[in-house]
Amino acid sequence: MKLLNGKTAIITGGSRGIGKGIAEVFAAHGANVAFTYSSSVASAQELEKHLETLGIKAKGYQSNAANFDEAQKLVDDVLTDFGSVDILINNAGITKDNLLMRMSEADFDKVIDVNLKSVFNMTKAIQKTFLKQRSGSIINMSSVVGVKGNAGQANYAASKAGVIGFTKSVALELGSRNIRCNAIAPGFIETEMTANLNEDTVAGWRQSIPLKRGGTTEDVANACLFFASDMSAYVTGQVMNVDGGMLT
Ligand code: NAP
Repeated sequence: MKLLNGKTAIITGGSRGIGKGIAEVFAAHGANVAFTYSSSVASAQELEKHLETLGIKAKGYQSNAANFDEAQKLVDDVLTDFGSVDILINNAGITKDNLLMRMSEADFDKVIDVNLKSVFNMTKAIQKTFLKQRSGSIINMSSVVGVKGNAGQANYAASKAGVIGFTKSVALELGSRNIRCNAIAPGFIETEMTANLNEDTVAGWRQSIPLKRGGTTEDVANACLFFASDMSAYVTGQVMNVDGGMLT
């Protein structure tokens, strides 16, 4: 059964990793996909072509989610190109890890801008559309680190904890208009990026996870599918941990 037939989703940071996985699962479930990226032009074009083979409309947009005006323009462009939007996934994110002692102001600000302010920018930009149609599902990518904290990631953890507070506030504010807002807190998800890590380190991480493996991008995408579809019609303001039991 296709759960998103005829729906249109905007996914920020769709050119690789988790965002790409979400785009693929959503397209397989019949959704039209508008995705953004920062600089990966070639992989965005490749993904656009691949998604279209699944029989849906797909388009990649180079757009900086951290920039308020660019976020507004992106939503305007997607509405022009696709006609409507039903789902917003705020997935774009970066890390600039360091111990607090060595963390620069620039690295703190950058992580907050890309991971947290982007969520404000995109939600503001889509709000009018969702209010008018009296429906919409917003899904924000947090992290287990936003729930628990992590040494060496004060900027990242603060941004991801902020995403949770923002998510719950939007759920309370817009629930009466049938606009839902939920967050996902992934644990250790194995992507192209983690493939370059030391194999022993990764093996140690896997061993410490109750399900004894890292997550896949599809694991996270399936949680997004639940929140995006009518399967979760009565669920809002929640944080779902997709972490193999890590925080249990
Ligand atoms: P990733 O592989 O590094 O991909 C990041 C994506 O975001 C790319 O498509 C990138 O575009 C895009 N991006 C970066 N800055 C952007 C900006 N300013 N505006 C628009 N797009 C931007 O990351 P990931 O591992 O898939 O993570 C995706 C999300 O899940 C992030 O929010 C991350 O914090 C969260 N998360 C990941 C894990 C994990 O284990 N991987 C765990 C918990 C939470 P380019 O390709 O053009 O650079």
